[in-house]
Amino acid sequence: MDNEGLSSFEIAQAQLDTVAEMLHLDPGIHAILRVPMRELHVSIPVSMDNGEVKVFEGFRVQYNNARGPFKGGIRFHPEETIDTIRALAAWMTWKCAVVDIPFGGGKGGVICNPKEMSNCEVERLSRGYIDAIWEFIGPDRDIPAPDVYTNPQVMAWMMDEYSKLKGCSSPAVITGKPLCLGGSAGRGDATARGGLYTIVEAAKHLNIDLSAATVAVEGYGNAGSNIAILMNSILGSKIVAVSDSKGGVHNVHGLDPDKVLRHKMETGSVINYSEAENLSNEELLESAIDILCPAALENTITQSNASKIRAKMIAELANGPTTPEADEVLYDNGVFVIPDFLCNAGGVTCSYFEWVQNIHNYYWEEEEVHQRLNKKMAKAFQDVLSESLERKVSMRIAAYLVAVARVVEAMKARGWV
Ligand code: GLU
Repeated sequence: MDNEGLSSFEIAQAQLDTVAEMLHLDPGIHAILRVPMRELHVSIPVSMDNGEVKVFEGFRVQYNNARGPFKGGIRFHPEETIDTIRALAAWMTWKCAVVDIPFGGGKGGVICNPKEMSNCEVERLSRGYIDAIWEFIGPDRDIPAPDVYTNPQVMAWMMDEYSKLKGCSSPAVITGKPLCLGGSAGRGDATARGGLYTIVEAAKHLNIDLSAATVAVEGYGNAGSNIAILMNSILGSKIVAVSDSKGGVHNVHGLDPDKVLRHKMETGSVINYSEAENLSNEELLESAIDILCPAALENTITQSNASKIRAKMIAELANGPTTPEADEVLYDNGVFVIPDFLCNAGGVTCSYFEWVQNIHNYYWEEEEVHQRLNKKMAKAFQDVLSESLERKVSMRIAAYLVAVARVVEAMKARGWV
């Protein structure tokens, strides 16, 4: 629940409802798009290291496959809920459509805390999850990938388990794999790099000099740490504050994002980094910076803090960081938001490249991946910006208008409606 009492999926549905009205969607099409096509609820028994068997609850939501196989990550999180996975699966549908890749949307999750599990326990859980859902996934059915607290190693175990069950090597069933197993060059930082390309486009539109810009990053996982590193090293932007689930650090003269990451790897958090002062997540969100990158979980920017945000631009690398009420406040205050399923679509776009390379069994150089990613992200950004300027709506509504129209076009062409 966000602080306005809406669940993530209710937010996703409310966003769709707004756009359905603007697009004069046929009520039948709207009804199909409001709910997932299929949901799998599974129980995964895992032998723990102490000899006990623990049964974990897992989900896979297959939201819509009008444009191609379902696609989306798998989260391992102690507070996972089916509601969040539904919302994330819906957002994957719009994400794949807005960057125009031939996939539908899905998402998976297991309620667990991998931080408190051994490597062997995480491996058995990863394999058990695939044992439970393997008949419903596949390179032309549903292609999972990493998400919160899952990584290339987890993808490797899952791909291996699926390949064993199928009796043949099947790298294209899952993306975000290690390079030695058919992963793509450039997939590791693709979410952040894709976000960077949209920030560059937005800065051109807003006339912001990124080499002089100050940046705060909320969340220092894969997307957050990489956006800090890339913005600093490629654009010369100054990273003045970063945070994680334990708190944040800031330094008005700029942080060295690589050093902060090393500190986090050694100590488990960015807090108490020696060349900075600690600050709270709330203070980070409200600090006087040019660009704010929420890169953690859902519902970070809410009605209670939106009016205090001083950034000119928000680049949403997380999924669902802003509530609808907060969105209105930001729009009224003239804060330019690059909405989540556009800003963070670089990950799945590179996943698409990985899938293409797996199917062709021919691998691209990193430079080629970057160029193709840049082209896709810049085009998606410009499509959304044009819609936003033409219709005089926020970038989020514009992104929905572009994405939903593409999904509807595919549904109609298939004769579903
Ligand atoms: N989990 C990432 C996302 O939310 C990537 C999904 C994928 O690569 O399929 O976009």
